[in-house]
Amino acid sequence: MKIAVYPGSFDPISNGHLDIIERAARLFDKVYVVVSINISKNPLFTPSERVEMMKEVTKHLDNVVVEQTNELLIRYAEKKNANAIIRGLRNYTDYQSEMTLFQFNRHINSDIETILLFPSQDNLFLSSTSIKELVIFGGDITDYVPHPLVEKIKQRIKEKRGCKEII
Ligand code: ADP
Repeated sequence: MKIAVYPGSFDPISNGHLDIIERAARLFDKVYVVVSINISKNPLFTPSERVEMMKEVTKHLDNVVVEQTNELLIRYAEKKNANAIIRGLRNYTDYQSEMTLFQFNRHINSDIETILLFPSQDNLFLSSTSIKELVIFGGDITDYVPHPLVEKIKQRIKEKRGCKEII
């Protein structure tokens, strides 16, 4: 059984994330989507809110399981008997950070491969930060995030507007 782990902060979830998950679910027998903490980002949603939203938008995918972890990703992947870690690669900035992450993970456990998937064309420029910025400046996000999440994301950003900490 081929098992993959797709980690991210997913704050908020974008169509780019969902595209990667759907394609990984075709490549692997089981995909664990794992909401993890990114210490350099200020959270919009709590980890458990993100897990619930991710479950909602992946419910059509039978082989996708959504969880949350606070532990080192590679340790989480070992516990799940994962063969691979999935990441998305949009641009050179991603390339640099993904290369570092890959080397770091490989140093700890070289049996778990990293597989990088390019985004589909529509999602190339999409990031969680650009979604937050669009909402703040009155742009429309309906083409960029899964439909059931549009209002939740707009509402949360509105609530947090007073605090400059969300980007
Ligand atoms: P992290 O904070 O761990 O980078 P993110 O939620 O920002 O978490 O991203 C999770 C993964 O999804 C990363 O590998 C990132 O490069 C990828 N990703 C983010 N946005 C897109 C997108 N639009 N298309 C494809 N992959 C993406």
